[in-house]
Amino acid sequence: MNASAQDKTLQQVVFFPFISRPSAGKGTQTSLLSERLSLPRIDMGSLLRDIAKEDSPLGRSVQERLSQGQLVNLDTVMAVLKDGLEKAMATRQSQTLTGFILDGFPRNLPQAESLLALCQDTGARIATSVYLDVPVETIVERAVNRRICQHCGAIYNLKSKPPATEGICDVCGSDQLLQRSDDALDKVEARLRSFDEETEPVLALLQSENPSFVTRFNGHQPVDTVYAELSALIQSQMKRFASPSVTV
Ligand SMILES: [Zn+2]
Repeated sequence: MNASAQDKTLQQVVFFPFISRPSAGKGTQTSLLSERLSLPRIDMGSLLRDIAKEDSPLGRSVQERLSQGQLVNLDTVMAVLKDGLEKAMATRQSQTLTGFILDGFPRNLPQAESLLALCQDTGARIATSVYLDVPVETIVERAVNRRICQHCGAIYNLKSKPPATEGICDVCGSDQLLQRSDDALDKVEARLRSFDEETEPVLALLQSENPSFVTRFNGHQPVDTVYAELSALIQSQMKRFASPSVTV
């Protein structure tokens, strides 16, 4: 916890936490950004599943919780995150400044507090978190109109991308275009409500810590437009952190 014990492994780490309502387009944008700008993307779900395969004390404890269907506690989540960052930094040739996309993290207040503490302990820094703002009504409409081909997995939207022939998959000709049970109206609304309840305090905390820690984008625009805005932001932030005068 004290500065003298601090190692330097994570001092070149810069975080871009992406926090957005489910189905706001976060997944699409984070994969594009990660691929085109070569930013490692961290999502806690995959990180936990990966470490559970490892024969280490941390791996075994995660494996045990997951196999019992239990939630992994916050200390373990943070240890797994730190481990993932250290491994990623170790594969870099030299200690180069590296921007990490944190996909869907932090998702609640305790995680946000722990992320700030991690930064304090290790010298890692938050560049800015990205909130893709898409109105609740839009997300609900997207979800309830979504249909998925049971045969080939093709995805349609009855309003914006209907199949050429009603009820028939363009790709494979199957007539099994169904709604996922998760996309039912009441489920979508409940999911959005609990998401907002959990993440509003996260955004408020980050913003009070530093107003530049939260950047809101209009996510209700074409994918390419959103991408252009996000990649410009990330590249300018990386330049800012690369300059030796930045002490944030
Ligand atoms: Zn199909």
